[in-house]
Amino acid sequence: MNTPTMLNFGAGAILLSGLTGDNWRLADYRARGGYKALEKILENPNHWTPDQIIAEVKLSSLRGRGGAGFPTGMKWSFMPRHAPEKYLVCNADESEPGTFKDRDLLRYNPHLVLEGMIIAAYAMGCARGYIYIHGEIWECYERMEEVLKEAREAGLIGKNILGSPFSFEVFNHHGFGAYICGEETAMLESLEGKKGQPRYKPPFPANVGLYGKPTTINNVETLANVPYIILNGGQRFLELGQPNAGGTKIFSISGDVKRPGNYELPMGTPFTVLLNLAGGVREGHMLKAVIPGGSSSPVVPASTMLDTKLDYDSIAKAGSMMGSGAVIVIDNSRCMVKSLLRLSEFYHEESCGQCTPCREGTGWMVKILHRLEHGEGREGDLETLDQVAHNIMGRTICALGDAAAMPVRSFLKHFRDEFDFHIKNRRCQVQDYV
Ligand code: SF4
Repeated sequence: MNTPTMLNFGAGAILLSGLTGDNWRLADYRARGGYKALEKILENPNHWTPDQIIAEVKLSSLRGRGGAGFPTGMKWSFMPRHAPEKYLVCNADESEPGTFKDRDLLRYNPHLVLEGMIIAAYAMGCARGYIYIHGEIWECYERMEEVLKEAREAGLIGKNILGSPFSFEVFNHHGFGAYICGEETAMLESLEGKKGQPRYKPPFPANVGLYGKPTTINNVETLANVPYIILNGGQRFLELGQPNAGGTKIFSISGDVKRPGNYELPMGTPFTVLLNLAGGVREGHMLKAVIPGGSSSPVVPASTMLDTKLDYDSIAKAGSMMGSGAVIVIDNSRCMVKSLLRLSEFYHEESCGQCTPCREGTGWMVKILHRLEHGEGREGDLETLDQVAHNIMGRTICALGDAAAMPVRSFLKHFRDEFDFHIKNRRCQVQDYV
């Protein structure tokens, strides 16, 4: 197990606070107040009914931290109340380029995630839950095995949790590294032992999910926020953030900054604060652009990003998406054609191949970008590139098609001059001023 990649704390940290890298065990977590939220619920079940828990989560304005940002309390309320069999799945298949927050939560505060999961299961009436961990973070899988063992021995999972009538069993599962298994229905297919390919929707997992039963899928960070909400109240959590997006958020900042890492900050913090915490751009360079929500979110030019706050509405206003909160910083030494080629190669490789626009279109985009990058671009290539991206969007089974197309369209929109330069001069413009 590695030491922490980087755990930096901003004001009001509630997820990463107090972590040293080796205090992840049950005894350490209990010393930090761990499992008090679960005890609070189980000791007073008449007050903490499932409906009351869901109401508190709704009040908190907690939104899913995996990328979609769907209100968590509302998602929980979709679970059919009287279904005899239903499941909770923790999505730990973190694989969006630039995102590395969930793996640190699983490494350094795994019992927090598990406590959130147990409370979520209680609120939705689930007797079984699964944690689906990305195959390339094997050490998190192994650590979770130990965490589940500790929790089972302490009566925190299994039959009659802490002597209450509530029983909840949790199973740990690892994937094999496919990006697409982070898509929730592909994840369910994979959990069922099949090829991890997204399903057509509807039906949605809340009605027909794992093994055909109602299923709720929540991201690691989303679940990790739940104990705080129960202990401190939804209102307090709401006040930490924005009116329609409560709490703090872990931002994984990477790329051309001096101190890349995970920074937990209140929703709505100015981007410049995060950039400064990360040490700013590398010496002698200038900020050129930012991809604010993981590699699938549209790129934003520096001039816009420097005036933008880190919350759903502000980033949307800047023309991009909050996504998973993975902030990729690009300085003026980077060629935007080469950067886009690298991103597009990733999505082409990770396409599951079910839909023609995604399977073929991602390959066509890579071919054109490869030509441009290697000085073989032709007149009309940029129009074709934009048209291919346009034709993928909204025409596929899952969001990977859009994820591949959005960066292409935004790079062309904001940095067209660099692409034109590649075609006209058969070389890169960046070499001239770096
Ligand atoms: Fe597979 Fe791409 Fe279609 Fe998603 S959009 S189902 S990844 S082919």
